[in-house]
Amino acid sequence: MKTADFLIIGGGIAGLSAAAQLARHGKVLLVEGEASLGYHASGRSATFYHFGLGNAPVRALTACSRDFFERPPEDFAEAPLCRPTPALFIARENAVEALAAMEAGMKLYTDTTSRVSLSQVEALCPILKTGPSGVVEAVVDTGGRRLDADGLLQGYARALKRAGGEVHTGQRIVSVKREGSSWTITSEKGEQFAAPILINAAGAWADALAGMAGVAPIGIQPKRRTIIQFDPPSGMEIADWPFVKAAIDEFYMLPESGRIMASPVDEVDSDPVDAAPEDYDLALAAWQVEEYTKLSVSRIAHRWAGLRSFVADRVLVAGFEPEAEGYFWLAGQGGYGLQTAPTMARCVESLLCDTPWPEDLAAMGVTAETLSPTRASLNR
Ligand SMILES: Cc1cc2nc3c(=O)[nH]c(=O)nc-3n(C[C@H](O)[C@H](O)[C@H](O)COP(=O)(O)OP(=O)(O)OC[C@H]3O[C@@H](n4cnc5c(N)ncnc54)[C@H](O)[C@@H]3O)c2cc1C
Repeated sequence: MKTADFLIIGGGIAGLSAAAQLARHGKVLLVEGEASLGYHASGRSATFYHFGLGNAPVRALTACSRDFFERPPEDFAEAPLCRPTPALFIARENAVEALAAMEAGMKLYTDTTSRVSLSQVEALCPILKTGPSGVVEAVVDTGGRRLDADGLLQGYARALKRAGGEVHTGQRIVSVKREGSSWTITSEKGEQFAAPILINAAGAWADALAGMAGVAPIGIQPKRRTIIQFDPPSGMEIADWPFVKAAIDEFYMLPESGRIMASPVDEVDSDPVDAAPEDYDLALAAWQVEEYTKLSVSRIAHRWAGLRSFVADRVLVAGFEPEAEGYFWLAGQGGYGLQTAPTMARCVESLLCDTPWPEDLAAMGVTAETLSPTRASLNR
């Protein structure tokens, strides 16, 4: 049996970022069921940092994470963790009000947004349809960032190991028990790990994992999202295009290694599974590309789907379970787990190690109660 001060189940961005932060205070063991880290949601994202999604607490967590992405600790990563990339939010006639509401929400958290004319839209992304049958209004955020998901995951894993922590992959946990003053978890291979504090960072599986310990669910709902990649017309230079997102949730696209990556922004309820794209959503993605742009998708070169897991109020969850001593939730990362991870890790550290609550976050109105698993808006 391996023992530690903190036991974390889940080797995605949530578990890894918390693990690296907690390793400054004690011995951390992180256990992941898959053979590699970031196999599920964390390895399937669009890897973009922006304010065009989420509610006020999510935007605050996003704003307070920017500094980490731009200036990570020394030795954290070999290459920059983020690349400045404008985010262009667009509206057709039916979405003008939605764009205004989104702009107002974003302005509370960043001073880098501004309205752009249709000729500026065409200069930023020449394939977008503009005018009566296309984009009629747009906002650009020059503070958008393309994140390096792999760089982040590996950076946190390295920081954890450097501080004496351990990562155990290929250890799917099948039993969780409180024995005396410790939690003991057992993998399907029969290996055991124990610590007084157990952190549930199991993403889409968070409620299923809680069930193993007899802990009541927090209402995690995984929702499938689909991404396609296709080739641009030959000779078209796309590397400097922005991240483009419709003001109503039906389309986004961005350039990726010479290809165009697009999503129909689908949110289909799912069980916690190894998500795969469905034909309908792939067709919808291609159709939305043709609706919003002058391109047609003759061949989908690459496709995938992942689960974004939400609780009822769509705010992330971090805090102790009152009914089970030493049981800590870190879940509900939704569609913003990467861009909020550095600040969530600081919150976890504060809640578990009595360090001060992040002042920058408190100044934006986000307290421990906002993230608590006992908050009323979770309807538990
Ligand atoms: C298509 C798509 C696009 C996205 N785009 C963005 C974006 O642009 N920006 C952004 O910030 N976010 C984005 N997200 C959201 C982001 O990917 C997630 O919020 C984040 O990855 C969730 O991290 P996590 O660690 O909670 O979950 P996961 O990465 O799913 O990690 C949970 C881990 O727990 C493990 N686990 C579960 N049960 C057990 C068990 N019993 N034993 C051992 N291990 C277990 C799983 O194997 C898994 O590896 C996107 C997501 C998707 C799907």
